[in-house]
Amino acid sequence: MYKYFAYRRINTVVAVQTKELLCKEFLAKPQKMLIDGKFVDAQSGKTFTTVNPATEEVLAHIPEGSKADIDMAVKAARKAFEQGPWRTLSAAKRGHLLYKFADLIEKHADELAQIETLDNGKPIKESRYVDVVQTMETFRYYAGWCTKLEGETTNVNNDFFTYTLREPIGVVGQIIPWNFPMLMAAWKLGPALACGNTLVLKPAEQTPLSALRLAQLAMEAGFPDGVINVVTGFGPNSAGEALASHMDVDKVAFTGEDKTGKEILKASLGNLKRVSLELGGKAPNIVFADADIDAAVKGAITGIFFNQGQVCCAGSRLFLEKSIHDEFLTKLNERINKMRQGNGMDEKTHIGPQVSREHLDKILSYIDIAKSEGAKVLCSGSTPSEMKQGYFVKPTVFEGVNNNMRIAQEEVFGPVLAVIPFSGIDDVVEQANAVRFGLSGAVWTRDVKKAHRLAGRIKAGTVWINCYNTFDPAMPFGGYKMSGYGRELGKHSIELYSNIKSVWLNLSE
Ligand code: ADP
Repeated sequence: MYKYFAYRRINTVVAVQTKELLCKEFLAKPQKMLIDGKFVDAQSGKTFTTVNPATEEVLAHIPEGSKADIDMAVKAARKAFEQGPWRTLSAAKRGHLLYKFADLIEKHADELAQIETLDNGKPIKESRYVDVVQTMETFRYYAGWCTKLEGETTNVNNDFFTYTLREPIGVVGQIIPWNFPMLMAAWKLGPALACGNTLVLKPAEQTPLSALRLAQLAMEAGFPDGVINVVTGFGPNSAGEALASHMDVDKVAFTGEDKTGKEILKASLGNLKRVSLELGGKAPNIVFADADIDAAVKGAITGIFFNQGQVCCAGSRLFLEKSIHDEFLTKLNERINKMRQGNGMDEKTHIGPQVSREHLDKILSYIDIAKSEGAKVLCSGSTPSEMKQGYFVKPTVFEGVNNNMRIAQEEVFGPVLAVIPFSGIDDVVEQANAVRFGLSGAVWTRDVKKAHRLAGRIKAGTVWINCYNTFDPAMPFGGYKMSGYGRELGKHSIELYSNIKSVWLNLSE
């Protein structure tokens, strides 16, 4: 499964693999938010707990930041932006700081991987080889961008010297989800810092730990006070909403559910701050009869079961050309039966628990909905009986799904696959696009022309051909339709975090 990820080229650097609990010391200490270079409690003194989804045990008590804490963090970020050393630091020095941050992440790779697995539930191998590696590579990629940001000169009129400046936007609010807590922080922080912004990060309440550890490493790297602020807490009527609606925040970047994205957009109206949204998906994973079937079976598994299906670009609709439908499902079922489900801290685990009880219940309710709609369970569809605690649901596949069913239209965000048969290119393109989302899609075929034609016709921000879930910090990611707007990663993220200013100098006598 891991062969689909871009970490391969550098995995020798990180993979220490230790059984020792390296994050013990971090977990034992009181958890603090980072505001203005200081590690602080919430002003209210309130805390909430974060639990291990595999055992339901409390991992730590987390400061419950609210509007007052967001106000303080925004003030610190504003000061650091307008007056602090951040503004005057050379681009090269900004880059050095980002490189140093990445090196510290690498130094603490195993500890960070454990924190991520304990807090989110994901298999330790994924935390170590995907989340941590992609996190540090994202920071390194954007460290390189610091010295490559440019404006332009333009020949508008002989009487003027005209040029553009690329400037940071200012104070940025960043609200991230719980599925890739550390990696989503990197996708947000990397480009924002490279462009010279200051920021306030609000991690998800289910998984705040890795962001708090990153905050410590950022201070160790030497970022000036107030440049990076991390406020933990909840979303609606709390820290998240306060950040999205704050009148002194110049831009808000959000990754999460489409429903929440709309709330963020509404909250942004007060000062018309810039908004970028990376929302949900219901990706078509299309397999033609002329594909390498074994590779496509593996791709279908990676597509839907990676990270317990809690992936916005998950290949949750598997379109199978009719002539290979039965053969494909037999092979798929065989592989699913070999997947090991369990505590993510176990090196042998392929699939861990869902992030929370609430989320597990949502997934189980979608399984019931699919059954009541007439979809047929090919495998599983329940909580594993051997799991005495933890938020587990078995990998589930529904066959006989019609693209209009709710199980084919709504984002389940879990290990639940809807299999839909098709006949021919036009049929599958029409069905693939008949959904309100457009984040990603995949095509499996040996016919190069067909693959490229499909890539052009699928309405989605990413199309994978004969692969699934491959990522690289240099490749943009984002949605069509209700999957959001703006592109993260690559040079496109620089657009999200910078302003262009036109300068006119009058040359006439
Ligand atoms: P989920 O419902 O699966 O937890 P969300 O999209 O609601 O996913 O959450 C993603 C992030 O958005 C989290 O950090 C959460 O606290 C935050 N959030 C949720 N609701 C709001 C809101 N109304 N305003 C700002 N942030 C919010």
